[in-house]
Amino acid sequence: MVGARRADRQVASMIAAPLRVGGLRRRMLVGNWKMNRPPDVSEYLQRLSSRAARLPSISVAIAPPATLLAQISGSDEILAAGQDCHKSASGPFTGSVSAPLLRQAGASLVLIGHSERRAEGDTDQIVRSKLESAWAAGLTPILCVGETRADVARGMVGSRVAEQVLACLPVGRPLAPVIVAYEPVWAIGTGRTPTPDEVAAAAAAIRRALPQRISANAERTTILYGGSVTPASALALREVSDIDGFLVGNASLCATDMVSIMEAIAL
Ligand code: PEP
Repeated sequence: MVGARRADRQVASMIAAPLRVGGLRRRMLVGNWKMNRPPDVSEYLQRLSSRAARLPSISVAIAPPATLLAQISGSDEILAAGQDCHKSASGPFTGSVSAPLLRQAGASLVLIGHSERRAEGDTDQIVRSKLESAWAAGLTPILCVGETRADVARGMVGSRVAEQVLACLPVGRPLAPVIVAYEPVWAIGTGRTPTPDEVAAAAAAIRRALPQRISANAERTTILYGGSVTPASALALREVSDIDGFLVGNASLCATDMVSIMEAIAL
């Protein structure tokens, strides 16, 4: 079992991972099950845990539906992540889950600003409130940003993702722990991925924007790529500079694919 303190230490080492020779950082793989689950969660976790135990350079997290968080957080080697949180810590919000409740269920991370939540109405301002709520509960947020097809057509990918980083991260919090996931909206669930050069350019734009908000952590911030990642696309994108791992949606429901991606990104 990844006890709460051990999970916190593992996340802290992601946040503060000293740059290694050659600029390599610790790698991270996050699976987002969305509103799905693998048929046998215990078997799935057993397969991922036993591989993760032999790949110490990678942190692996799963963001399951909230009903399965406790099962994930009780597993060996795998960190538990919420898929979203409410901006308030408690209150009359039927159907929502707060950051403190995620924390109590064993989560150490939480996705915030996923495009599927933004499509349901999350504005940059709401995303900012949710980040504050996550930090207050002791969770490390994974802030999702990414451009639309229209942004690509206008040649605005870098400016769009930088604008989102600046709009979502609050001013005056230079030490805030955050992981950023670059997820082009047009690549999520479509089977299409940007080229390595396109991912590198967007990740560099994110990295350039970060010091304006989290000056103390900008250089070390983990940046993930997400959008139709499969074992094959992970191989193609694993060397992209400024990318430290992947946020995987549909393929994360398959333990075999997750293990292949872990092996593809192992240092
Ligand atoms: C996601 O939901 O964050 C995601 C990247 O989905 P997919 O891998 O299915 O495109």
